[in-house]
Amino acid sequence: MQHFPIFVALAGRRVIVSGGGEAALAKLRLLLKTEAHVTVFAVDAAPEIQNWAAIGKLRLVPRAMEPGDAICAVLAYGANEDAVEDARIAALARADGAMVNIVDNLEDSQFITPAIVDRDPVTVAIGTEGAAPVLARAIKRDLEAQLPATLGTLARIGKTFRHVAEALPMGRARRDFWSEFYFQTGARDLEQGGAGGVLAGLHTLFGRHLTAQDKPGAVAFVGAGPGDPDLLTLKARKLLDEADVIVHDRLVPAPILELARREAILISMGKEGFGPSAKQNDINDTIIEHAKGGAQVVRLKAGDPSVFGRLEEEMTAVEAADIDWQVVPGITAASAAAASLGQSLTQRGRNSDLRLLTGHDVDGFAEQDWRTLARPGAVAGIYMAKRSARFLQGRLLMHGADPATPVSVVENASRPDQRIVTSSLATLTDDLKAANLTGPALLLYGLAPRQAATVTLPTIPTRLTEREHA
Ligand code: SAH
Repeated sequence: MQHFPIFVALAGRRVIVSGGGEAALAKLRLLLKTEAHVTVFAVDAAPEIQNWAAIGKLRLVPRAMEPGDAICAVLAYGANEDAVEDARIAALARADGAMVNIVDNLEDSQFITPAIVDRDPVTVAIGTEGAAPVLARAIKRDLEAQLPATLGTLARIGKTFRHVAEALPMGRARRDFWSEFYFQTGARDLEQGGAGGVLAGLHTLFGRHLTAQDKPGAVAFVGAGPGDPDLLTLKARKLLDEADVIVHDRLVPAPILELARREAILISMGKEGFGPSAKQNDINDTIIEHAKGGAQVVRLKAGDPSVFGRLEEEMTAVEAADIDWQVVPGITAASAAAASLGQSLTQRGRNSDLRLLTGHDVDGFAEQDWRTLARPGAVAGIYMAKRSARFLQGRLLMHGADPATPVSVVENASRPDQRIVTSSLATLTDDLKAANLTGPALLLYGLAPRQAATVTLPTIPTRLTEREHA
């Protein structure tokens, strides 16, 4: 992030705009929404600017800017649409201690103006660091459509009620009260009874929340999917948004954790490939301790919680502690990996069953029904297989599997750094060694990428460019 978004207090402060044409007008339309004291320096100001000056909305100085003109100004805009003049005034304004923005000149600007969705006092600022103004405008349009025009009114009325609402305990209770106001009762009261109706409604709602019983703590075992935030279920997103505490696997990547509320407590515990893993009892204790304290706990597990995630042990522990729980399924790594290959996990005439195996379990390498797996057409999704590849290869060949059986290894499935290694049972160990995988990897035994015959490159970085732009 090269530009850090902040909201600058402008009430009563000086803001300077140098220029009197279109560029200056565009900035002034925004600035006049604030309570700043705006001064425009322009030899030849557009009629609108002259009108604003005439009715006292700004001060117009009909000459070019000079040293000292920007003293005590917080912000100064170079909007002369003339690179030389803008550079001159930028130097002057900087010397006077103001932060400078030059219109359409990212490099020489100390700050940039975002696209703004105005539901005052709710303001959304959208920035792309100058990279994609089209994108900013599209996001602005979407948000404008999403945020009702009444939001500003509600927020203003809400603000006057804040000191009353402080009687509710901080945290969840207060949050529940406000979210019911903004997302349920507020808009209805405004429509039916205007501002007075909203205030009356706030008092009723407040009374109800004040006497409400505390919601008991609960645990949701939630599947985070393979890593792409778009592959979360709606239910998972909702729970992440509401969670007080999130206890997550180390496999859950940052873009998903960022969906948590800012106040949520994030605790990293559990699986990390072959790295140090937290003890299961410690994980159980942490979950239970927070839920007992009244927290809504999300136990966030990579993929699907019911696949090689020790869900059973955690559910049993939570149940024994007499805490409510639910399971929210997620997309397991095998599904994501198959999608990346463009393959179906089952297929008529090829395999009517599918096995999900783990390459190693608590006792080390896991023994399997090798004879069945060695049959032609067998398909299996093998988790945690990186270290056990040699063992798998040996066992399967020993039980008569065809050495030419295709094997695909998908590393970081669904993530921007996804890699696919196309291999066969005979060459698996060597191919894996050469690929030097560092991320979580799923082995799909019996499946080759759909286009394996034509594509020889082991990588399919389709999402990369898209991500880079986002
Ligand atoms: N519950 C998870 C599996 C946890 S076991 C699920 O349903 O996917 C951890 C193993 O999952 C890793 O060793 C790896 O084999 C696999 N895995 C998880 N996320 C993955 C991803 N994005 N890409 C490839 N494999 C992944």
